[in-house]
Amino acid sequence: MIAPDIAASVDRLGQLFAACDVVLPFTGAGISTECGIPDFRSPGGIWTKYRPIQFEDFLASRDMRDEAWRRRFAMEDQFAAARPGRGHLALASLYRAGKAPEVVTQNIDNLHQASGVAAGHVVELHGNTTYASCLSCGRRYELAWVRERFTADGHAPDCSCGGYIKTATISFGQAMPEGEMRRAEGLTLGCDLFLAIGSSLVVWPAAGFPLMAKRNGARLVIITRDPTEFDDLADLVVRQDIGSVLQPLIAAHAANSAG
Ligand SMILES: [Zn+2]
Repeated sequence: MIAPDIAASVDRLGQLFAACDVVLPFTGAGISTECGIPDFRSPGGIWTKYRPIQFEDFLASRDMRDEAWRRRFAMEDQFAAARPGRGHLALASLYRAGKAPEVVTQNIDNLHQASGVAAGHVVELHGNTTYASCLSCGRRYELAWVRERFTADGHAPDCSCGGYIKTATISFGQAMPEGEMRRAEGLTLGCDLFLAIGSSLVVWPAAGFPLMAKRNGARLVIITRDPTEFDDLADLVVRQDIGSVLQPLIAAHAANSAG
């Protein structure tokens, strides 16, 4: 069923939430656009202006590593200024109410954590761009530290172990993180309502999870701007503004936890 308007979407979502025990939110770029984080793959997004840097090129060339960091620092103002939107806050309410114990995301912006979901309860399929780590030893580095050195001599610094330092994201051509994939699968099989928000559900592995949930007997809700290939399978499809549809949840669950 495609909800005809925002009021009907909110109503039907409320009924579905009431009827289930465990919601698994699965989020993509659409939940963060109102926070000023661009959807990199959409028209006008960064990947339509620059060719993405493939992981093997990052490894192979110091120029590419410097270029990757130059691009990252060019976007730092946007990432640093971003605050959780209404969708993040709504999911954080569900989380606090115990209805959505963990969140799976394709986003790298750290906004679920910023909204109050514990870092250990956010499964990041594509990593996190708000810090960096060494590709060899895994040591964590803060971006300010990397930037200071980059600014000083125009080159990205290496780790004390000699490894390359990269934002903690999964690049094009880089293997998906196995631990996160396993956790996401486990959560998908453990939920009775799979709530896909702001993801086109096209790119693997995102495409596999809604199907897995549905085959396992969960309800499927898809809230996103454009049609997806899973709309026919879904129990509810919402093509309204994400923040407007989810905002009522913030108040509803705040009232529940207060009462
Ligand atoms: Zn290292």
